[in-house]
Formats: sequence, C-alpha cells, structure tokens
Amino acid sequence: MKIREIHIYAHDLPVKNGPYVMASGAVHTLGTTLVKMVGEDGNVGWGETCPVGPTYAEAHAGGAQAALALMAKGLIGAEIWPAALNRKMHSLLTGHNYAKAAIDIAAHDLLGKTLGVSVANLLGGAMTDRVPSYYASGIGAPDEIARIAREKLEERYPRIQVKLGGRPVEIDIETIRKVWEVLKGSGMRIAVDGNRGWTTRDALRVSRECLDVPFVMEQPCDTLQELERIRPQVKHGIYMDEGSIDLNTVISAAGTGLVDGFGMKVTRIGGLQNMRAFRDICEARNLPHTCDDSWGGDIIAAACTQIGATVKPDLCEGVWLAAPYIEGNFDPENGIRIEGGHIKLPDGPGLGVVPDETLFGPPVASFG
Ligand SMILES: [Mg+2]
Repeated sequence: MKIREIHIYAHDLPVKNGPYVMASGAVHTLGTTLVKMVGEDGNVGWGETCPVGPTYAEAHAGGAQAALALMAKGLIGAEIWPAALNRKMHSLLTGHNYAKAAIDIAAHDLLGKTLGVSVANLLGGAMTDRVPSYYASGIGAPDEIARIAREKLEERYPRIQVKLGGRPVEIDIETIRKVWEVLKGSGMRIAVDGNRGWTTRDALRVSRECLDVPFVMEQPCDTLQELERIRPQVKHGIYMDEGSIDLNTVISAAGTGLVDGFGMKVTRIGGLQNMRAFRDICEARNLPHTCDDSWGGDIIAAACTQIGATVKPDLCEGVWLAAPYIEGNFDPENGIRIEGGHIKLPDGPGLGVVPDETLFGPPVASFG
C-alpha cells in the first residue's frame, strides 16, 4: 500500500483566554502544521504537529514545514506500513522527530481508514473507550491556581498538573500548599511541572518543604545530570518530560531507575509507531506515563486519545490536550472534546476524525 500524494498545510490556532504561561515563556497563538496523505487507492489520512512556540523544545512551526517538505518528495511511492515508513523517513532526514510524527500519524490514519479499523486497534487494542485526561494549570498566583484546582476537581478531572518555575521558589511552594488544601482527601492526583525551570537547589527545597503533599515532580530541572544529582535526595517521584527526547533516552532513564514515570508527547517521540514502543517499554518496567499533545487541534488530539486508550489503565497518567484552549474543532461533527475530565474515544476507522479542510486554506506545499 503506497503513498500517492502528500499535502502540507499551515494553520494558526489562537490561544483561548490566553496567554498560556510556562517557565519557558508565554504563548498567545500557535502555528500548527497538518499533513494530508493520499494512498494509491484514493483514501486519505491526516497528521498534525504543533510545537508550543519556539522555546519549549528544539522545535518550531517553520522547522516542521521545512522538514516535511524535505522528506515528502522522497516519500511518494513509499509503503505506508509504519515501521517501514519510519525507516524510510530516517533515510531521508536525521532527527526532527516532531516533523516525522505528522507523517507517521497520517499513515496510521490512512491505514486505519483503508482497513476499516481504529488506530487504537492498529496499536494493539483499546482498553477503554473513555480515556482519562488531566488539566495543566499554567503558572499563576497561588490563590488563582488553588481556585482552578477546585474548579477542575468539580469538573471531575482525575489529575491536575500545576506549572511552576521561572519565579521565586517560595511562590511555587505556596502554590503547592494552597492547591493541597483544596485537593487533600479528594483522590485527585497532582503533578508539579517545573518545565526545566528549577535549579537543583530549588527542586530539593520544594521536595523538602512539601513532604506531606503526594505529588510527582515532572521535569524539575533541565539536564539528565541535574536529575541524577537530585534523585537520591528528592522524596517525591520524578517524571521525565522534555528530557526524554527519543527511545534511547527513555530506555536509559527507565533502565537506570532515574525516573518513576514519564510525561510523553506523541510528536516528541516521533509519532505513534515510536509511542507504541515507548508504551511497551514503560509497561515492562511498570512505569506510569502520559500520552500528550504538545499543542494542536483535532488530529493530534485524536492521535493522543487513540494511543492513550491502549495504555494499561493503571499506568495511564492521562492524555493532555490543548482542546480547552482552542476555539472550535477541525471536525465539526466528531471533534475531540474533554467531558468530565475524560475523552471519548472516537468511533470510526483511523483516527475517527475527519477535518473540514476548507479551514486550512490552500496547502503550502504539495507532492505527488
Ligand atoms: Mg511537562
């Protein structure tokens, strides 16, 4: 089954009630990149990648488009089977996982639509049709974040992630304590996410001064070496997010016991084929993890939901979507939505969503 055409689209997603603030910066609008893949029988699959601005990771929207245009010509006539397609992409371009992810997701969608099965089933089989999500608070004043925590508890989110860092650590500690006052006894799980923004000194202080709060600490510091330094002293579970840039790093971090789990993004690891391998590595080591977007619309949201549905339920830390920050859906009928803190696995073959492509305007590049 071969690829006949690839079309690349650029689309702006304004941040609803923005900006969205993290230790690495604030974002007001984000450029997403979409891939439409046409198979030799005329079936269509969609992929998407949307970096959270240019400073969150080594990724940006212009880079995605350039990398996709570079690869696309060489992919016309290639087989869509995911492992073979990933090897073909690596033969055309080193690195750039976040761009390759859009091709990989489009191939899974096309394969599912052609075979009449969901992407979750292509990835090993859905364990649930109601996938847990979690809410990320953004960085804010302690009382405001505590208010959001109460609101998300009432909306029945099973987990909240509190963004911290980039300011005096005393305010971060006060934020954690106020959130805990709200959530204590509720059963809602808490992650505190430094987004690489703390020094080892600050991370150690947060753990020491919040010993009674059962959070996991997500990517507190920037480098592997910093995580190795704090690991013996921190009393909380440590999850790796931004640092887990590929499967090799994941194997090392899991294999050496450096971390207790991962925040993982489908685009960072290079798409669903690699995400499936990541899921299985984590299951072998009994490590919980998320299945996230970085940002983006219905296509990437559906991809995260499909793989999230296949994760062993007690290891699934949830699927984070940008949906609450985005106005409208690409697919007006079956668009991905979070309700009661959970996401309904879409019915239908492939990703289960079909975008209204008139939203995207003409493609920025076409091949085939
Ligand atoms: Mg994170």
